[in-house]
Amino acid sequence: MSVCSQKKTILYFSPHQDDELLSMGVDICNSVSGGHDVHVILCTDGSKCTVRDELANGKKCDKCPGIHTYQLTEEELTAARDEEFRESCRALGIEDGNVHILKNRFSDRKLTVYESKKTILQYLNVMGPDCVVCTLDPNPENHRQHCDHKGLGYAAAELFNEGFIRELRIFTEPYFSEFFQHKTDFIRGETRKVIDTATALVQAKIQKAAEAYSHWEPGAGRYAVGYHDISEAFDALLKKGSSYCHICKRETVVPVPGVSQCRKLVVSLVSYPARLNSAMNALATVYEQKLTPDAVILWLASADFPNGEKDLPDGLVKMTEENGLSIRWFGDGMRLHDNYSRLFNEYTDALVIAVADAMLCHERFTENLYHSYLFYLEKVPDIRICFVPISIARDFALCEEDLYKIITYCNDEVSSLKVLQDENRKLQDDLKMKHSIIVRLAKEIGKLKREPKI
Ligand SMILES: [Zn+2]
Ligand SMILES: [Zn+2]
Repeated sequence: MSVCSQKKTILYFSPHQDDELLSMGVDICNSVSGGHDVHVILCTDGSKCTVRDELANGKKCDKCPGIHTYQLTEEELTAARDEEFRESCRALGIEDGNVHILKNRFSDRKLTVYESKKTILQYLNVMGPDCVVCTLDPNPENHRQHCDHKGLGYAAAELFNEGFIRELRIFTEPYFSEFFQHKTDFIRGETRKVIDTATALVQAKIQKAAEAYSHWEPGAGRYAVGYHDISEAFDALLKKGSSYCHICKRETVVPVPGVSQCRKLVVSLVSYPARLNSAMNALATVYEQKLTPDAVILWLASADFPNGEKDLPDGLVKMTEENGLSIRWFGDGMRLHDNYSRLFNEYTDALVIAVADAMLCHERFTENLYHSYLFYLEKVPDIRICFVPISIARDFALCEEDLYKIITYCNDEVSSLKVLQDENRKLQDDLKMKHSIIVRLAKEIGKLKREPKI
């Protein structure tokens, strides 16, 4: 068979400037030399990288010949990183026209599963459903993995499960290769593990691409950002480039009806004046999650704050400005369930995680819940899930265990208590079945020692 008859369009979604090389570079080179139509899509601007502070710290380092006296704006840092990225793609053999830098990209740490899904779908709509989709492997056991890598990875896995992707390749970062053997239990169907090591020809391209990330020429806007950020990964790559890939394939592309919606992940909490300080501490931990929520909502009673936002502490106002925290007011007589009712109406089909205002969240809790949700989605496809805390934690010493009970929300019912009281037998049986799955789900993620009492 000629190369041409097997020609595929292969899309590499890179969370940051450098992931295309560090984790997918070997595969990209092989795809290019295989005659395929290869595209690389950069999904964030990389502006929050800590190298920006490092370059201004007045010190000398062993990664560049200069002294760090450079006060770059976030935009300048992005421009420097984009240049590294473009040069790297060129060295890997990708035509300039096939290098895509998303307009209105998110800053790093903001790449949610929802936004990633929208981006991937956008490209599949334009390029055709038969494209091969490549990105990073979201590894629930790897707690050091970047949240943007997880966001893109889970999005691609979900789209594969939902029948939108015929061939999915997810790459374990070579600097985390010890996690390569993990079970991809959230992927429906068989996956094949492949380790590719660079041939001499590929290694030469990899070396050239790596030079893009260590290029130091401040006068020309080049600051070796990639190399300053993660030099050990580049050093390892220069010794021997490898890609660690899980390949997942399906016979046909058949989107499962009704699941094509992208679901937002929403975190919600309720508080009152006496507990606002602890609520802010809880919120700070929400913003450190390994899987980034799309929205974080704090509910306050308007009667408690007669002057509205003017009565809020500065720290909270700062969170609305810097983190996008959304504050919602509720009036007299509203109960907790009413808030959720409003939330579900606003975020149709969202996954809502309720946290307590007196509880710090373990940094992995959104990811653990999400991973389990993906794992169980097939068994309860119409589920709407709300995770709520078992009790207000007694102190701030936070562990992952024993903190959550999980309530299902069926159809448009927002109170499972109400559903349980329903006379309809069938509905009760249905709920019991779901409930038992949810209990298993909770046990699975190790967050529950007691059976939840609904
Ligand atoms: Zn990255
Ligand atoms: Zn330096």
